[in-house]
Amino acid sequence: MEPSRRNFIKFVVAGSVAAGCPIDEALLAVPDSNAPGGALVHGEHFEICHHVRDGHQFERPDATRKAAIVIVGGGIAGLSAAYFLRGKDWLLLEKEPQFGGNALQEEFEGQIYGTGSAYAYHGDEGDQLASEIGLKLPFVNMPDPTIVNKTYVPDTWKTGLDQLPFPKEVRESFNKFRDDMMKIKLREKMAELDAQPFSNFTSAYAPEVQQWWDAFGPSNWGARAEESSAYVGLANAQDLISGGDAERAILPGGLGCITHKLVEVLQPKYKGRMLDNAAVVAVVQDKDAVRVTYHHEGKLTTVSAKAVLMCTPKHITSRIVIGLPSEQKTAMRHYRFAPYPVVNMIFDKPVYNRGYDNWCPGSAFTDFIVADWTIQKNPGYQQKHNILSFYTPLRELQRSTLLDEHDCKSLAARVLVDFQKLLPEFNIDAVEVRIYRRGHPMFMAVPGHYTKTRLAASHPMDRIFFGNSDSGGPESLTSEAVRLSKAGSEWAELLLAGKPGAKELAEKALAATPE
Ligand SMILES: Cc1cc2nc3c(=O)[nH]c(=O)nc-3n(C[C@H](O)[C@H](O)[C@H](O)COP(=O)(O)OP(=O)(O)OC[C@H]3O[C@@H](n4cnc5c(N)ncnc54)[C@H](O)[C@@H]3O)c2cc1C
Repeated sequence: MEPSRRNFIKFVVAGSVAAGCPIDEALLAVPDSNAPGGALVHGEHFEICHHVRDGHQFERPDATRKAAIVIVGGGIAGLSAAYFLRGKDWLLLEKEPQFGGNALQEEFEGQIYGTGSAYAYHGDEGDQLASEIGLKLPFVNMPDPTIVNKTYVPDTWKTGLDQLPFPKEVRESFNKFRDDMMKIKLREKMAELDAQPFSNFTSAYAPEVQQWWDAFGPSNWGARAEESSAYVGLANAQDLISGGDAERAILPGGLGCITHKLVEVLQPKYKGRMLDNAAVVAVVQDKDAVRVTYHHEGKLTTVSAKAVLMCTPKHITSRIVIGLPSEQKTAMRHYRFAPYPVVNMIFDKPVYNRGYDNWCPGSAFTDFIVADWTIQKNPGYQQKHNILSFYTPLRELQRSTLLDEHDCKSLAARVLVDFQKLLPEFNIDAVEVRIYRRGHPMFMAVPGHYTKTRLAASHPMDRIFFGNSDSGGPESLTSEAVRLSKAGSEWAELLLAGKPGAKELAEKALAATPE
């Protein structure tokens, strides 16, 4: 379906597909003739980014600035590290014009919605941080429905299994899957399960079972059953089946509500220490300091720090931290990332308010979320627009779709068409469709990632801590980003105070496996 057939709908494409750093081409030193080739891509946000990927060397001027701690990357990991370190001498560098990374909220005529990260779990590290900064995240209070074969099925994994619009033997297969999965002792077999694909556990059941997980997996951890770690798949299955989803809590804006509030809390006091449009191009550890070179306001500047918290994803970290041990660099490069646009549909009348997170196996999207779900029952609240956020994880080979605005709009048009096919009452056009594209936002929870790759990738160097949610797991979670940033801030404080134990503290935080 071409968007031209829907020209009356406004399609807006935003977001970066960048793998590296937007930077003025004139600032590049002579290209490294040994660098692997690769087409340069021109367009919004990612004109020069791929120079970093392709191994070009940047000038590294002498340090003209000092900070005790430099935090690289202003997603929830970097922002929460800055929050935990308030009162200390830190500098936060973020390449985009805004902070938030993958936890970013936007608004349409005053109504807030999320463009990525969706919800926290009550009491997790993200929720704890939210309440510390004055945000109360209401419970979602609604198990997930599935909409398939033109049928709405509430509470999929409990009462819903017997209502799925499939033949009896398929429904029985779903029930058997549920019972069998609950018998597996996850914690005892973590390494064994993490070494094999989740499809080893789904393939014995009706194909519809795997189709359901082939929506749930890509949406939550970037991978279909055959590419997912069985540990991750089973942990999620057990959580869902046993009602763990009752603990979900969030405000409109998804987890972007926390990054938005963190900026609100930090900026009035620390504005000069929070640089946006500041792309780091090199991080070099010397004996007593780390030199961090970044591009800001048209020039390269080097800041000398005693400690650095790398809060960037590993595919970027591996390219800007110079002198990584080779095994560690190899592990960082081993990460796989799912390209992942989110399509926000804005309707000027209520279209769907029946369920929060709605699973739609077999569609151009995996699920969709009602943006203002948890505040709809607040006294006096009136929904002006019904904003639905469609999750549209792509396969790695489809990443180039995001480089082309026309392809992005076609993708969004397909989402709208598939949505309208779900139920007869959905045959309504949106007033505006906003596509937020991200090229590498979510590490894929592939076999071996949790128990091997991320541990090998994330050991601290003497003065460099490797944070970001991709140092944790088992899937990409904001709670993990926050947990590791808390550890990173304690690590930095020990290091700066010259006290022992920093390395041990960091290693312990990496090895911890959250419940
Ligand atoms: C569609 C989607 C849905 C999700 N849903 C959930 C959910 O429901 N619950 C949940 O817990 N998690 C969810 N996640 C995962 C969650 O969003 C991430 O785990 C979390 O936001 C990552 O935060 P981070 O700070 O570790 O990394 P990022 O958000 O990746 O932040 C890294 C920051 O570093 C910046 N940066 C990169 N390179 C440079 C450079 N060279 N110099 C300076 N800055 C740089 C980037 O611009 C970015 O702002 C979802 C993710 C996606 C994509």
